Amino acid sequence: MAPTYSLLEQVNRAFDRAAALTEHAPSLLEQIKQCNHVYSIAFPIERDDGTIEVIHGWRAEHSHHRLPTKGGIRYSSVVNEDEVMALAALMTFKCAMVDVPFGGAKGGVKISRRNYSRDELERITRRYTFELVRKNFMGPGVDVPAPDYGTGPAEMAWIADTYTTLSGGELNALACVTGKPVTQGGIRGRLEATGRGVYFGIRDACDRADDMKAIGLETGLEGKRVVVQGLGNVGYHAAKFLQEAGAVLVGLAEVEGAVQSARGLDIDNVMEHRRETGSILDFPGSANLPESIAALELDCDILVPAALEGQITAANAPAIKARIIAEAANGPTTDEADEILDKRNVLIIPDSYLNAGGVTVSYFEWLKNLSHVRFGRMEKRFDEAAHTRLLRVVEAGTGKRLTDKERAELAEGADEEDLVNSGLEETMVEAYRELLECREEHDRKVDLRTAALIVAIDKIATAYEELGIFP
Ligand code: NAD
Repeated sequence: MAPTYSLLEQVNRAFDRAAALTEHAPSLLEQIKQCNHVYSIAFPIERDDGTIEVIHGWRAEHSHHRLPTKGGIRYSSVVNEDEVMALAALMTFKCAMVDVPFGGAKGGVKISRRNYSRDELERITRRYTFELVRKNFMGPGVDVPAPDYGTGPAEMAWIADTYTTLSGGELNALACVTGKPVTQGGIRGRLEATGRGVYFGIRDACDRADDMKAIGLETGLEGKRVVVQGLGNVGYHAAKFLQEAGAVLVGLAEVEGAVQSARGLDIDNVMEHRRETGSILDFPGSANLPESIAALELDCDILVPAALEGQITAANAPAIKARIIAEAANGPTTDEADEILDKRNVLIIPDSYLNAGGVTVSYFEWLKNLSHVRFGRMEKRFDEAAHTRLLRVVEAGTGKRLTDKERAELAEGADEEDLVNSGLEETMVEAYRELLECREEHDRKVDLRTAALIVAIDKIATAYEELGIFP
């Protein structure tokens, strides 16, 4: 049955709007827009009680202009082929936007993970992996999955193990998937990467005096009132980094409902309360909103949708009070809502830029797996020794002696996590600069979503023009 709400149509409409503002040939734009491969799978698994269940899944590879293709795997009861194709397209644009040299892909398995035991999830993940490998939809140079909604490091470890087992000694086998546990070839900082990238993007947007003035807000993140919808990997980490930077979390929403407090909610205390009671509701010092979706309409400066697509619609857009919508999730704002919010002069920081931190650090993990060495391992001590020698010279020249603690702090070399976070920040800052530059080139007549897509389309078009079309 065709889905009533089509994320693919949304993405395609946004693409068409941006494409019309470029000077590329229509036929080339059509190639950039189309999803190149879609693999639809049905496979059986044995439930713990011995019954057999048929599971449906998909993998879409949107663009092969760069290889491997890259994109998360989603476990959701509502995922469908349309959604997977749309998310794969977004991955292509996202990778181009932040100069990660991959084509876009996305996977989906139609299950609600809370209905399955750990053993069943492992069997589903391993069988899904087997099906992808069988049709050459996975491999370090072919297509490299990562976590998305409903999946995390545990699933990535099972995928890596299954692929390694099937690949029979392939040297780079671990680079077949990213988002693995650090102890299984993962990289420090990947778990937090998407949320950290969301924070960098919001921080940079709030630092633009002209943009803040245009929407009636003060410059800077400090004291900004934030609502976050969805406290999973992306939402939790985004909330944590925003809180650490001085923003005030005035509303938090999960599936069971939402809580609000004008004084602010401590994200870790709320998560602890949820672990203890099974719900964020009744968090001490807060007021409950039994209808989770109502949180989107709370009085705040920044709204961070970090759950699923299609949350901000024509129905609730007129009631949204936030001046900034920071799209941590993929596709949270429908086209109609986008138009309404644009007329209301709300600044939307688009998904194709804002949540690119995950794929950026996935790229670093892939590089680490291919080089078979941890970032920082070769140079950390060497750098420390060089810094120490330099400090000794400065001490001798100035006559001022540092304490051992001060010297150790100043001389410290970068370890893996420092380098990952620095590379992530550089990527997000540079991408935002490019996005704003594109908006200026179009005399500020395009919104940030269109600017992001124009930047991405230009880069993909250049790749095609340089590569030519085979054969
Ligand atoms: P996740 O499964 O870790 O967390 C999602 C959370 O949202 C869950 O806690 C879930 O209970 C909650 N949720 C679901 N429906 C909700 C609703 N209606 N209201 C409130 N809360 C709701 O998933 P994630 O990895 O954090 O992904 C979230 C979004 O970010 C998705 O759109 C995903 O595509 C996007 N994204 C994720 C990554 C990544 O690295 N994980 C990268 C880029 C984009």
